[in-house]
Amino acid sequence: MRVNGRYLPMPASARVLDFNQTIMICGAGGFIGGHIVGALRRQGFRHLRAVDVKPLSDWYQSWVDVENFSVDLRIKDACMAVTAGVDHVINLAADMGGMGFISTHKTDCMLNVLINTHLLSAAKERGAATYFFASSACVYSRLLQSTTDEVRLREDNAWPALPEEGYGFEKLFGEELCRFFREEHGIAASVARYHNVYGPFGAYDGGREKAPAALCRKVAEAKLSDRREIEIWGDGNQRRSFLHVDDAVEGTLQLIRSSQPGPLNIGSEESVTINELVDLIEEIAGMRCKRIYQEQQPQGVRGRCSDNQLMRELTGWEPTVKLRTGLEQTYRWIFDCLSTNRPVLATSRISTV
Ligand code: NAD
Repeated sequence: MRVNGRYLPMPASARVLDFNQTIMICGAGGFIGGHIVGALRRQGFRHLRAVDVKPLSDWYQSWVDVENFSVDLRIKDACMAVTAGVDHVINLAADMGGMGFISTHKTDCMLNVLINTHLLSAAKERGAATYFFASSACVYSRLLQSTTDEVRLREDNAWPALPEEGYGFEKLFGEELCRFFREEHGIAASVARYHNVYGPFGAYDGGREKAPAALCRKVAEAKLSDRREIEIWGDGNQRRSFLHVDDAVEGTLQLIRSSQPGPLNIGSEESVTINELVDLIEEIAGMRCKRIYQEQQPQGVRGRCSDNQLMRELTGWEPTVKLRTGLEQTYRWIFDCLSTNRPVLATSRISTV
């Protein structure tokens, strides 16, 4: 909770995750959501409810011993139905993707406001103990991200606001809505700002993929076809930091358990240019490709990196997965998906509301 520029802990009434409580993960058919369900399951949580708008067959990961619901969370009645009996809501549901998607689907990104608004209202009406909202580094002022020098973004750099059009604006609105629900309605809402999360079991083609998955896919396709050239959006000098999904999951659960309201950065402080990212992927693949730069394609801000100081101080969380290690795993998964059919972790049954 930020008061006069200072961060205060959430009310003591906010309860942390308990094995007997029901945790609902929204957007569970997606990339980070699927990994969160998997992590909670491995940690011994047995009352898990997974929700996504996609049919279950399209979820990246699903489990038979989890309650799985396919509903559209933009609809208030659907939010009310799935939040019945839920103690903790983890909201990762959003119609989103990489730069290619968010720069051409600003309306869809803005309409995500319906998901967070209706879910928060339902969580309040149902008396949920905690609520988590997945925000993004796209809330940060574009004015601070116009150089390829390493720009570490601190939480207070989101204001005065000039976020990414559409997607960033909606996230900033969602953050503020969480704050008001907390301050005026006593909901223990917390917010993380994820910075470029990557790893297996996420989009790597079809237009929603982000740079690490897209580049792994392009290099893997070049390897499989022996056509040694890849297209790179922009001039390759854009700078980013990339966080492995296992670190994002751990940071998210630590943030929720810490009862800190945030918003807090969950990102990596190890930044690279896109060209350096491609160097690493090519090393992993054991081949070099000719790079064709497509400067007319969307490339986002010039430079962005997470500053984790506040998150470290308030929760003790630090990323642990080295970029090279995480990319090896991601490249291998995408290579396997391209070589065979997409691997499926587990089949599951669908529940109805
Ligand atoms: P994702 O697209 O893989 O997962 C989002 C899921 O939400 C999808 O499965 C989608 O079907 C679902 N969804 C969309 N509309 C819905 C609706 N109306 N009702 C129910 N479900 C709906 O994305 P992700 O990478 O796992 O991201 C999870 C969250 O983290 C999102 O809120 C995203 O904005 C945020 N985030 C992600 C990153 C990143 O690098 N992956 C960075 C910043 C913020």
